[in-house]
Amino acid sequence: MAYDQTDQFAPFVAPANEAGASEASTLAQRLNAELRDAHPATILRAAYEHFGDKLALVSSFGAESAVLLHLAAQVDPDIAVLFLDTGMLFGQTLDYRKTLAAKLGLTDVRDLRPHFEDLAVGDPNADLHKTDTDACCHIRKVVPLDAALEGFDAWLTGRKRFHGGDRLRLAVVEESEGKLKFNPLANWSKEELDAYAAEHALPAHPLVAAGFPSIGCWPCTNPVEEGEDVRAGRWAGSQKTECGIHTARAPGAAPFMGGDI
Ligand code: SF4
Repeated sequence: MAYDQTDQFAPFVAPANEAGASEASTLAQRLNAELRDAHPATILRAAYEHFGDKLALVSSFGAESAVLLHLAAQVDPDIAVLFLDTGMLFGQTLDYRKTLAAKLGLTDVRDLRPHFEDLAVGDPNADLHKTDTDACCHIRKVVPLDAALEGFDAWLTGRKRFHGGDRLRLAVVEESEGKLKFNPLANWSKEELDAYAAEHALPAHPLVAAGFPSIGCWPCTNPVEEGEDVRAGRWAGSQKTECGIHTARAPGAAPFMGGDI
C-alpha cells in the first residue's frame, strides 16, 4: 500500500535553468532546516510528499542498504530504486539485490548498466580499473546514473555521518545539479542501524560476515581489519574515496560529500 500522499506541500517542478536551480537550493535549505533532527521515516515521507513518483532511491544493495530500502518500502513499495550494476559487482551482491527486493516487496528496482558503446571505446578489456579508477567509475557509474536521474526531480541516498571524513558535515537535505538529495540516515549511528535491522529481521549482505563493512565492485573492495574505518577497504592503497556520483559535475561547483556506492 502506497503512503497516503497529502497536499500539505506544493509539488516541486524540476528546474530547467539557473533560476530554477536556485529555487531548488532554497527549497533544500528550508527542508534541511525543518528535517535536520527528524526520524528517517519522517524524512522519507516528506520527500515522498514533495516529489511523489519524481523521487528515486539510489541503492548499492550493499552492507547497510537494507535499512533505507525497508523504510522506503513502508512509504511506497513502488518507488523507483536505481541499482548500479557496474558489471564488476560481487556475485553475492547480485543475489542479494534479488532476494532483498523480493523480501521487501519492492516492485520497481531498475538495474542500470554501462552503455555498450562507452565500454567498447573506453574499457574494451574490462581492465580500466587498474589504470584509471576515476574513468572507470565515470563509465560504469556516473554516466548510467546521470541518464537514469533525468526522469526524477529528487533522490534518496543512504549516506551517514558516522562514516566520518567529509560526511561528518552531511546535510539531511541538499541540492545537487538542480535536484534535491535526501539523506534520511545522515543522523543515525551504526548502533541505530543495527537495532533497526534486528527489529525488522532484515537479512545482511552475505559478505558482511566475511569482513566487508562496505561493499562496492570486487576489484576495488577489500575486507577490513577490526577497528579500521568502515570504508577503509574501498579503493584501498589509493587516494580515491568516492566513485563520483556524489561529486558536482559543473565546473567551479562545490563538491558534494560522501558516497554510499
Ligand atoms: S569501483 Fe572500481 S571497478 Fe567499480 S566502477 Fe569504480 S573503478 Fe571501476
